[in-house]
Amino acid sequence: MIIKNKKMTSKMTTIMIATIAISAFSLIGSEAYATNSYSWKWADVSQDYFCTSSLTTITKTSHVSPCSNLTTSSNVWEGISGSTWSLTETASSGTPVYAWTSGVSGAGLTVITINNGVPIGAYIAMNKNLSWEDSAQDTSTNGYDWRSATGHEFGHLANMKHSTNTISVMYGSIAENQVRRSPDTHDDSMMAANY
Ligand SMILES: [Zn+2]
Repeated sequence: MIIKNKKMTSKMTTIMIATIAISAFSLIGSEAYATNSYSWKWADVSQDYFCTSSLTTITKTSHVSPCSNLTTSSNVWEGISGSTWSLTETASSGTPVYAWTSGVSGAGLTVITINNGVPIGAYIAMNKNLSWEDSAQDTSTNGYDWRSATGHEFGHLANMKHSTNTISVMYGSIAENQVRRSPDTHDDSMMAANY
């Protein structure tokens, strides 16, 4: 885990960065290493996603480019040994990534719609009211690392559950200023097992 100790204060909060909801059921909490994926899988290992205009309304520092940063955060899941998973940003097809407007806690949410055991659609929503930043560059402010949190949600899109390893991208909560952008060995093994 990368923590900017100089910014650690008692005011820092840790929040869940994602839950995944399947067919209207929310699955929240820690899961054992041995059961890292859900029963469903995408039929196609090449998934499309697109950034909606609402994502530009998030609360952010100037170092965050909400849409273009998605490319960076999705790319971390490609090229993992043993996996052929890929994500392609498109203009308007595939999984939409947009901003939560109100009424939802947490940093991000990935929802997969399942029909007869088969995923038929998905969306990713990010909390627009948190203070988002590029924690590697925004060293003088407190905020949540946009690339870490969006990368985590793309992991859920790839059927990954939460890791109990605190350095994993798929660890289930994140504190302000924490950077967990690069998959660790546990993330890698989950992805290789899935796709
Ligand atoms: Zn999550």
